[in-house]
Amino acid sequence: MTLNTGPAETGPAVDDRAAGRFAPSPTGDLHLGNLRTALIAWLAARSTGRRFLLRFEDLDTSSIREEFYRTQADDLAALGLAWDEEPVNQSDRRDRYTAALDRLAEADLLFNCYCSRREIREATQAPNGPYNPRVYPGTCRHLTAVERAEREAAGRPPALRLRGDLVRYEFDDLVAGAASGEVDDVVVQRNDGTPAYNLAVVVDDHEQGIDQVVRADDLVSSTPSQLHIATLLGYAVPEFWHVPLVLGPEGKRLAKRDGAVTLTDRRELGESAADVLSMLAASCGLAEPGEHVTAEDLIPRFAERSPAELATIPQTLEL
Ligand code: GLU
Repeated sequence: MTLNTGPAETGPAVDDRAAGRFAPSPTGDLHLGNLRTALIAWLAARSTGRRFLLRFEDLDTSSIREEFYRTQADDLAALGLAWDEEPVNQSDRRDRYTAALDRLAEADLLFNCYCSRREIREATQAPNGPYNPRVYPGTCRHLTAVERAEREAAGRPPALRLRGDLVRYEFDDLVAGAASGEVDDVVVQRNDGTPAYNLAVVVDDHEQGIDQVVRADDLVSSTPSQLHIATLLGYAVPEFWHVPLVLGPEGKRLAKRDGAVTLTDRRELGESAADVLSMLAASCGLAEPGEHVTAEDLIPRFAERSPAELATIPQTLEL
């Protein structure tokens, strides 16, 4: 189903030149896992003649810090992962998310949700409650005007959820293969008024002409919700490459506790950006360990491989 509340073209101009992107959140220095994903995203774009764009996902102002826009961009540049246009910041684009939310609201697809995380957890764990703990239990789906007013009077600011109706979306991931998932009532605006990641990413990818999304596979499970939002808004769906997320030795996502995990840390150990690029390329099977390569050198090697081969690159790095 696509909304008939006006064609997508009534929004801002959409860039129709093919592009891939890397979309970090400026909440810290990029770690080697982020950098490996960025390298693959860059190679996927470059080896297919696409533009490569950098977008800072900085809507969650509680955790971003000003210096990380620069350090993240500097680290990508040091590895030779150049981008084509001025990076965009999601925080400058709020009017676009509001416009998309308005279209969903006009189609009566949004509802106010006053639930706290704890209430959702408790409702999904209740003995006779829904048994899928990942699914929103629907508490606020059918509130009457009076019930809504009570919650407002109690001072609870609502989040906005998009009705999902557990519709199933399937997609062919170029790396992970066939994937699918049911869409529950995903939050599209948080209760502090911030547009949610799932909404913003879809609006930006569409407006920036992104037709190739390369990112870590921890986001596979968010993809059906994003497909739902894109479909409702009448947007073309990009191709997806979900690549193995890099984990630390304990099997959790790579983090400071795992040692020298950023380019700055590696430099302190005496390594150069070229050494780090070499290590990341080797972990993708694109270079021999210790072989010195530039990012450009890797483009033809990458182009020879099938994206599906990336599914088996290791989840841990030799640190
Ligand atoms: N901002 C997300 C992250 O840093 C990436 C989102 C995306 O690529 O869709 O993990």
